[in-house]
Parts: sequence; structure tokens; C-alpha cells
Amino acid sequence: MKWYRLQEESGQFRPEVAPDDARPYTLVIPPPNVTGRLHVGHALGRTLEDVLARWRRMQGRAVLWVPGVDHAGIATQMVVERDLTERTGKTRHDLGREPFLETCREWADARRGDILNQIRRLGCSCDFSREYYTLDAARSKAVRRVFSELYHQGLAYRDSRMVNWCPRCATVLSDLEVNHVESSGQLWSVAYPLEDGSGEVVVATTRPETMLGDTAVAVHPEDERYASIVGKKVRLPLTDRLIPVIADEMVDRKFGTGVVKITPAHDPNDFEAGRRHGLPQVVVIGFDGKMTAEAGAVYAGLERTAARKKVLADLREQGLRRDDRPHTSAVGRCQRCDTVLEPLVSLQWFVKIKPLAEKAVAATEAREVTFTPELWKKTYDEWMKNIRDWCVSRQLWWGHEIPAWYCPEGHVTVPKPGEEADPAACATCGSARLERDPDVFDTWFSSWLMPLSVLGWPDKTKDLSRFYPTDVMVTGFDILFFWVARMIMAGVWFDGRVPFREVFLHGLVRDERGQKMSKTKGNVIDPLVMCDEYGADAVRFALAVLSGTGRDLPFGTTRVAASRAFATKVWNAARFAMGMLGDSPAAGEPDFATLGRVDRWILDRLATTAKKVNDSLEVFRFDEAANALYAFFWTEFCDGYVEMVKQVLRDETLAEEEKAKTRAVLRHVLLDSLALLHPFMPFVSCEIREALNGDGAKLPVLPYPAGRDDWRDPFAVEVVETLRETATRIRNLRAERGMAQTEALDAGLEVPEGPVAEALRAHAPLLSHMARLSSLVVAPAVELPNAFRDHVGVAGLVVALPKKELSAEEEAKARKEIASVDKEIEGVSRKLSDESFLARAPQAVVEKAKKQLEELAARRAKLVTNLGEAGGR
Ligand SMILES: [Zn+2]
Ligand SMILES: [Zn+2]
Repeated sequence: MKWYRLQEESGQFRPEVAPDDARPYTLVIPPPNVTGRLHVGHALGRTLEDVLARWRRMQGRAVLWVPGVDHAGIATQMVVERDLTERTGKTRHDLGREPFLETCREWADARRGDILNQIRRLGCSCDFSREYYTLDAARSKAVRRVFSELYHQGLAYRDSRMVNWCPRCATVLSDLEVNHVESSGQLWSVAYPLEDGSGEVVVATTRPETMLGDTAVAVHPEDERYASIVGKKVRLPLTDRLIPVIADEMVDRKFGTGVVKITPAHDPNDFEAGRRHGLPQVVVIGFDGKMTAEAGAVYAGLERTAARKKVLADLREQGLRRDDRPHTSAVGRCQRCDTVLEPLVSLQWFVKIKPLAEKAVAATEAREVTFTPELWKKTYDEWMKNIRDWCVSRQLWWGHEIPAWYCPEGHVTVPKPGEEADPAACATCGSARLERDPDVFDTWFSSWLMPLSVLGWPDKTKDLSRFYPTDVMVTGFDILFFWVARMIMAGVWFDGRVPFREVFLHGLVRDERGQKMSKTKGNVIDPLVMCDEYGADAVRFALAVLSGTGRDLPFGTTRVAASRAFATKVWNAARFAMGMLGDSPAAGEPDFATLGRVDRWILDRLATTAKKVNDSLEVFRFDEAANALYAFFWTEFCDGYVEMVKQVLRDETLAEEEKAKTRAVLRHVLLDSLALLHPFMPFVSCEIREALNGDGAKLPVLPYPAGRDDWRDPFAVEVVETLRETATRIRNLRAERGMAQTEALDAGLEVPEGPVAEALRAHAPLLSHMARLSSLVVAPAVELPNAFRDHVGVAGLVVALPKKELSAEEEAKARKEIASVDKEIEGVSRKLSDESFLARAPQAVVEKAKKQLEELAARRAKLVTNLGEAGGR
């Protein structure tokens, strides 16, 4: 953490570190809930943002990355209330509104720093001097402002509507906060007797307890089965009410009996039907989830489930139950507490969101905002097209209070935009007896104003003019609607500009087997624990590699351990390189033209890698960038270049001047690699840079390598790759044959005479060393005894395999096998030379025999080679 502290304290995370005229690059952190602890999803998002922030900062941009915390309306209130009840046995109502809010405030203030410190632990280079909190004064001002604007534009309105009500949380929820869970239940059939005694109609329902609130039964107008009863009345069982039979096109003739009950107070479709037919609303379930007095004395006060049991039992007793059937339907549950929601009619504030959505879609159509991956644009368009009015009031205490006042006459007063004082009198009748709306806004009603509000809007601040619109929003695809779409709407509506130019939506982190992480499954990975065990760099690198793998991102210790192995490799290679550099002075840029082939090769590879990393980050392919770095550093630099340099520096025939050039290249490649790696692994890269160059703290603001176009030498690459491939092939050959890696071998490379042959010949000592060869011939044709042949790079490889010493037993076995193959060969050959066979047999059979003969010959050759008797019986 030492480097992190140094960097933060020196002001490197502030955009002011860049020159005044530097192009800004702005990101806003999706604020984590104050109730939470940094989870693996946050760790992924923040890692990707930090990679972008550090990369852009090194490119010379004035990077502003604003961190913040969300007051988390419903979650905080739940936690604080539970805590209060556990400690004192009191509820928030016992305590009273103001004292309860004070408790919430203290609780949240005490924890706000925790989650920000967890973000620091991950290495995130946010500008903490500009930290925001969704409930602070500046953010509250913005919330109040937009509500005033919407109200006076006629887009915010109050109405009694069917809403999703959570009886446990005692608040309304937006459609997005409802989890629709497929549940298997029953479809019960109940007989409603016709008033005139001419029979009964059978109604099918999944919620029999609501029948106490029925105010009609309905059939389809074209359903001939029921044409004669439309307009008649039925006796509603368990009550003494008569209700009409109506005809409505919403009825599905195929569902159940084709007759449905209409309960306008407890079902969204019935609510609409009730409005169409002027039916009364009978509320039989209250906001506490219990049956009301309207449900009848025997049911009043019962919980919904108990009421259902009693209703069913009472119907059975009266002989009104008909056949029941198992039935699956989607049940809405509270996203917070999993309680089954109740559709209830309630007076709430809504925002008519369609005009905002249309403007936002126009902006995305014009590509003012682009989505990566692009497929999310379609999902966004679809949702925006079908968007419904947004219920923004919540029956909570903790949150932004709604700036609406009511007089005894029921007039509504909402301050005009810009009016900061609370109203003293009713705007309609002048009454001074005003009461403020007791509700607060949905948390998303403040979140949707980011990044506007975090940069100071509605005030015309310096930050707003310099850093808005922001550049990119990084977040999980699961909050595309909750948040991303709403931010776009708010941006274009209130400010006329989009809030960000690009959206990168990442997948959701799962456990190693692809399962969703959950406390009940016990498969939750705590990124902070991982940071302690493996180091933050390893966690970050693993997450970056993971990010490109789709919607479900399988994550676990295997991946983090692999990344730690990489970090260790980087460390060890650096330490080894430092040993070779000794106290050689730091030289400037290598002079490419004067360098040897191996040095040119690594500089070419470095330039290619740098280009690949930059190109990948431009399009949010964090995985490709990380993989390119991994492959370069591990395979090309550590396993390839460092090993070769070891030989070069040991070569006594080489002039000291040439060795100095190689040392300069080694240092340069190492420093550039650390710079390239820095956005992914900020800690280890600074640490090594310090050890190597004494300026670790400066690394985060040094230029990011872009990949020099003039450091290209395809010929050197071709030659050196051939050398490396040869060494690898020979190593594998030894392993395949069970030979020790130290066992000496003679080898040859077959290449026509020319520049390639010359170059390979020049590197013969190096290759001999790398591959531990006792001799190496480079020639157009190479003959070696008991030869193994293969292709490597631009050359043909020939290796003289040593004769295997076989025991008498092994030799006898091999000879016996050869004899048996010979016999088979004889058989097939005889067949193939038999004229009558060839004349009669189908072509396919003949082909098969020929192929068999070829295979047998190959098998024989192999057996003979193994026996060490090339060519003979
Ligand atoms: Zn709930
Ligand atoms: Zn009034």
C-alpha cells in the first residue's frame, strides 16, 4: 500500500496533475451502497475503471475519476431498524421520524469511509478529494431541482394506481424492483350461483382469498357459452353481495372455464377493467398484508395465506368447490426481502417518462452514446419503447424527502425550479396550513442524476464545464435499465447533453463452476480476502482477464493463483535482469539501427505488444490486453529474451560495447513492460521500477508506451522465432523420448543458402547453447544417422537420435512385433496383387486395403527406428 499512499498524497489521482490544456477523461464510479462491503462484482467494475484511468493518465489525459457512496434508502433503513429493534426492542415508529433519521445518519456516516477504503485497497486511483455522497447537500439540491422541473412541466403527477406493494418493507416498489419467480401452485375452481337460481358459473382463480373483493365476473363478449348470462347477477359466495356478469375482451376464453372474477382493488388487469366498467373497488387486503374489515368479520386480521386456507375450507363446506388443478404462475417477490408482493391501489407520485425516453433514444440513435458490447443497444431500445410511468415515491423515512406540500383543501404546492426555500403558503389558495409529503424518493431518483450532480449541476461549476459529459460508464449489464438508461434520460432532458459517450457493460461474476454466488450456497468470494491472500495485483489481473468471457464470468482461486504466479514471474525476471544489468548506467533510448538481431527481435515484439494493448483497451477488450501482456512478458521476455541475453553477456568473444547495447535494451524492455503492466498491476510495477530505476512513485504518470512503428524488423523476427522454435521442439523431443534435458544431441537446420541460412549460422552458438546441442549444421540438406525430421519456423529440423540400448528381452519383443507386422503386410500385399480380387472387389474395398498397407508400412518403420536399426531387418 506504500505506493498507493504516496501516489494519492502527491495528488496523482487528481486531474490537476496533467497540464491545464490536457484533454479530460472522466469516469464516475457507480456508487456502492453504504450498507455494503466491496463484493466481487464491485471489484471487477472498479478494476476495469482503474485500468482505464491509469492508462489514460499515462497517455497524458487529465483524468477525473469521481468516487462516491449511495445512501441506499431501503437497505439502510432496514438495517438500522433491525439493529434498533435488536438493541432496544423499539421500532422506528416508537423512536419517531427525526430521531430515527439521526440514527440513520450517524450509522451511514460511520460506514461511508469503509467502502471507500476497500476501493483503495484494490488500488483504485479515484480522486477522493471530490468524493460524493448521494444524500449530501449538493446532490439533494439536484434532486429537488429535477422534481420541480418535472412537476412544472406536467411530467410528475400524483395518482391512485395499482402498485407493487411490499407488506414487509411497507413501501411501494418500481416494476424493476420486483423479482418474478415461477412458482407451482393451484388453479382453484369456485362456483358462483346465479341470482335467479338458473344455475351457476364456475370461476378459476390462483388467489381465492381475493374473491372477497370481487365486484364482477367477466366473460368474453363473443363466448357463446355464456352469452345468455351477461347482464345477470351472481351471488358472491362467503359474502352477501350480488355482483354483475360483464363482458370484456380482456377475458381469455381458453383460461379455466372462460369466466374470470374481477377484483379491481387487487389485480392490475382487473383495476383497468374496473375503470372501464365503472366497478367499485373493495379493498380486502391492507397495506400490512392482512385481511381488512371489508373482507368480513371472520376473515379480518388474517394473514394472506391463512385467509386463503379459510376461504377454501369455507367454500368446501358450502359445496362450492369444483375441480382444482396444479398451475404454475409467476409470483412477484420483493427484491430486498423476498416477501410476496401485493398489488394494491395507492396514492403515489409518478413520472411520465415517455418524453424523456424518446429524447434518450434519439441521442443513442445518433450514436452520442455507444454501447459495448453493442448487442445491449437492442435491449435498451426495446425497454425504452415499452417504458411505463415510473413510480418515484417510497414510503420510507431515509432518503430525499419529496418537495411537495398539501393544504387542507388538498391543493399541491411544489416549489418552482430554482426556488430553494420551502413554500410558506399554498400556491392555489394561499393557506398557510401546509403539510409536507411524508414520503421520500426512490434511491434511483437520485442515482439517475449522476454524473450531472456529482460534477455540481444545477450550478454551473468549473468541473461541470470541464468534465461533463463524462467519457465512459462501466457497470454490470444487470443495471442497464435501473441506472444506465435512466442516466441517459436525465442527462439529455435536464442538461441537453448525454452523461457519457460510451457505456461498457460487463458480465456478472459467478463461482468457478459458473454458479451464482450466494450466502446460502456458501460460494461467495470476498475480493478483500483474496487481496490479502494473493495480493491486489493478482486479483485485478485475474478480473481483467475474466472480463471478456461473456455474461457469466466464472471466477475463483485457480484464476487468481495463476495471476499471482504471473506476478511472481515478473518479479523473478526483473530481479534476474537486475543482476545482469549490474551497475551499468541507465542509457537513453536504444539505437535500433545499430542493434543485433536478438535485440531487434525483442524490441519488435515489445512494439507489437504495446500496440495490441492500446488497441484492445480502446475497445474495452481488457482480456485481450492482459493476455497480450502475459504472453509477451512470460514467453517472449522471460523465457526467450532473458535466456538469450544470458548467453550474449557471457560470450567472451563479444566486444564490451555490444554487451552495453544489449544491457540498454534489456533495461528499456523491462521498464516499458512495467509501464505497460502498470494499469493492471499497479503495486508490483511500482515496486520493481523503484528497485530498478529508483523512481517507482513516478511510474503512474510516465508516458504509456504506444508501440513504435519504426521498431520493426520482420527478418530478425523470422530468424529469432526459428531459433526459439527449434529450442522448444528439441526440448519437447527429449521429453517425448524420455531423455534427460542435458543429454547431448547433434542437429541440423535445412535452409537453402542465402541470408536466412547466413543469419541462422551466425546464431548457431547461441542456439546450440539454448538447445544443448553438441553440434549444429546449417545447410540446404542435412543427413544425420537415425534422423528425426520436423519443420521449425522457416527451416527443416534434423536431429540425430541416439540409438536406444535395449535389453535382450525388449529387443526380442520388438523383433517379434516387427515379424507380426511383416506377416500382415504380406497378407495385404498378396491380396492386392491378386488379379481376380482386384477385378471383383468394389473400389472402396480396394482403397481400404491400400490404405491399410500404408499404415502397416509406417508402423513397421517406426518399430524399426525404435530398434535403432535404421533401414534394415
Ligand atoms: Zn420487502
Ligand atoms: Zn390550498
